[in-house]
Amino acid sequence: MGKRLIDLRSDTVTRPSSGMRKSMLAAEVGDDVLGDDPTVGELESRMAELTGKEAALYVVSGTMANLLSLVSQTRRGDEVLMDRNCHIFNYEAAGSAVIGGLQLHPFDREDGFLPLEELPAAVRPENVHHPRTSLVCVENTHNRAGGSIYPFEMMQQVYHFARENGLRVHLDGARLPNAVAETGIPFDKWSSLADSVNICFSKGLGAPVGSVLLSDRETVTRARFWRKRLGGGWRQAGILAAACLYAIEKNVERLKEDHMKAREIADFIADIPGFKLVRKPDTNIVIFQVERGTMDACTLVEKLEEKGILALAFGGNRIRMVTHLDVSFDDIEFFKENFPGT
Ligand SMILES: *Cc1c(COP(=O)(O)O)cnc(C)c1O
Repeated sequence: MGKRLIDLRSDTVTRPSSGMRKSMLAAEVGDDVLGDDPTVGELESRMAELTGKEAALYVVSGTMANLLSLVSQTRRGDEVLMDRNCHIFNYEAAGSAVIGGLQLHPFDREDGFLPLEELPAAVRPENVHHPRTSLVCVENTHNRAGGSIYPFEMMQQVYHFARENGLRVHLDGARLPNAVAETGIPFDKWSSLADSVNICFSKGLGAPVGSVLLSDRETVTRARFWRKRLGGGWRQAGILAAACLYAIEKNVERLKEDHMKAREIADFIADIPGFKLVRKPDTNIVIFQVERGTMDACTLVEKLEEKGILALAFGGNRIRMVTHLDVSFDDIEFFKENFPGT
């Protein structure tokens, strides 16, 4: 038997299960650029129905779904409001600036939610000097803030504010399934608070590839054009879409288990002197700080790796651990027993 490996770096490390692989093997396929891959079609209609949106577009990544969404709802030179810790601002290689010619307007707030009181002043009055403010982005669950769930009422307030000011709203819901599983608030209720939504299948849902962009027909038509322009048109993508259909049927409810595992890790860490939880996890992401004098985050990551436990140093002497379907409750016990310095 190989050495036990517990990979807590991200929920993107999951491998397709045998059931998922069987569904991929059996998938009917066609040419998706020509619009006749039946499995992609099925995934897109299933997701549109689930989220209450008119149309859907299956794409290669969450980064592409976000980019397509931004460029399809703005003009070059527009300004987009978002929080400074969001994925779009930090981890998408400035695609919205390079490809979309967009200016991003970030707000500082540690918890990843938008400061409602600062929004009115951020909407630019029409004037020859100003960019046009056209879009607001929200992220749910919030990655950098530690998998936190956007409070529904707060998202409602953002949406109403946007509506009143003629702005559109994009929801980066890469991990929206985690919010759905944890709160019991269904996909369509969350999605009703945004004009466009990105949902990833390759995170906690356990599929190998893909995200879906959901919106009105017109926006999705524009996004389809942009996807082709970026070289993202694909052919027998049904093989991958089959894995996503499997994931959305089988793997949403079970995310609650991942949240329990994350809480177990968090409770354990909270009791160890020299370590401090950044916040209690809402979902499957645990972020904690290694306090000065204990050791630095990189050393801890190395020590964990010697035990076969992988985690990510996250900047600011912080460590991130993400639970997922390839980490068992038994693995969490192993983690606790082998945590350095205990
Ligand atoms: C993972 C993630 C994405 C997109 O990720 P890809 O790796 O491009 O699929 C977008 N937004 C958030 C919040 C994410 O966590």
